[in-house]
Order: sequence, then C-alpha cells, then structure tokens
Amino acid sequence: MAVSKTVGIAEVQRAAQAGIHDFGENRSPLFVQKQVALPEERWHFIGHIQTNKLKDLVGRASLIHSVATRHALEVISRLAVERQMRQPVLLEVNVSGEESKDGVSAQDVPSLLQAAGQLPGVEVRGLMTMAPVLLSERDDAARQCFASLRRLRDNLAPDYANADNISLNELSMGMSDDFEDAVKEGATLVRIGRRLWS
Ligand SMILES: *Cc1c(COP(=O)(O)O)cnc(C)c1O
Repeated sequence: MAVSKTVGIAEVQRAAQAGIHDFGENRSPLFVQKQVALPEERWHFIGHIQTNKLKDLVGRASLIHSVATRHALEVISRLAVERQMRQPVLLEVNVSGEESKDGVSAQDVPSLLQAAGQLPGVEVRGLMTMAPVLLSERDDAARQCFASLRRLRDNLAPDYANADNISLNELSMGMSDDFEDAVKEGATLVRIGRRLWS
C-alpha cells in the first residue's frame, strides 16, 4: 500500500497509472478529500482513531487498520449497520509495549476479538502493528516485533476458524525502513510512504 499522506491528488493519480491501487491516509479530513476525489481506488485509514470522526470513515475506508478499543469497534459497528454494510477493520497491536504507541496490548487482543464477534457491523480481517524505531543498523527489534505479531495471529486464528465476522488473514506491518523484515515475517500488507515518493 502506498501511504499518500505527504502527497497530493496528482501524485496519487500518477501512482494509480503506474498500477498502485491501495492508498493509506492517517488524517480523516485528507482521507475524505482524497477518497472523494478518487473513489475508484482503495483507501485505507491508518491513523489514530477519534471516535467523532468515524462517521467520515465508515463505508469510505476499504480497511481501517488502527482499531484498538472496544468503544471504537462499537461505534464503527453502529454506523455500519445504519449504512447497511459491514466495515472491514484490523486491530492495532502495541507489540513492543512502548507507552508512546497506540494499540491494544497483545494480552488484550482476545477480549477485543470476543467483543468484535458480537458486533454485526464489523468484519475483523487481521492485525496491524508499528515497529519500534531502530537504534542501529544491527538492531533487530523491528523483525522481532513482526515475528511476535505473526505468532500472536497464529495462536489466535484457530479459535476463530468458524467465526462469522472474524478472520485473521491479514498482517499489516512494515514501512519504508523495515518492510523487508516484515515481508520475511509474513506481512500481507506493507505501508510504504517516503521510499515511494522520494
Ligand atoms: C506514515 C506512515 C507509514 C509510512 O511510513 P514511511 O516511513 O514513510 O514509509 C506507515 N504506517 C503508518 C501508520 C504511518 O502513519
């Protein structure tokens, strides 16, 4: 996925002509502006969720990557049911446990999945994470973080094998500086910004 938060509509159009059709935005006003301008592309929301902005995202986002609270799941479900659709989401996991990071802790993922299972308007497709910032060339913290997310998914997936609105196939992990490690660890979606546009 191309993270288009630093570029305008013209650059997105050029990327689409080159064959990229998944774009990620982290702020709802720009998300809406770009999605409305280019509705034929797939638009992913990857930013911090403010529940009062969810009304602008539900139905417009092909995937909301950054859901981390039961409250956000409930609001998404209510809006989606009103709009007679089901909103695909990922749960953002704070694997590294850094306090500055968004995301649910790994140990709280099962209870969030339980909650999602009761909400008819959400469809959970997998997990997302942000790796810690690397301290040196040889620091393998990012790769370990990605491996942990995959293990968490592998451990939980059998419990949801028959769930109607939960599958854990997607792993959204990896950005410009660490996507190669993420792919090695099983990423199904990488979120590339700077490396693509510079
Ligand atoms: C900006 C952003 C990216 C892309 O980061 P780059 O380092 O520019 O590739 C990926 N994921 C999220 C959540 C972002 O906010």
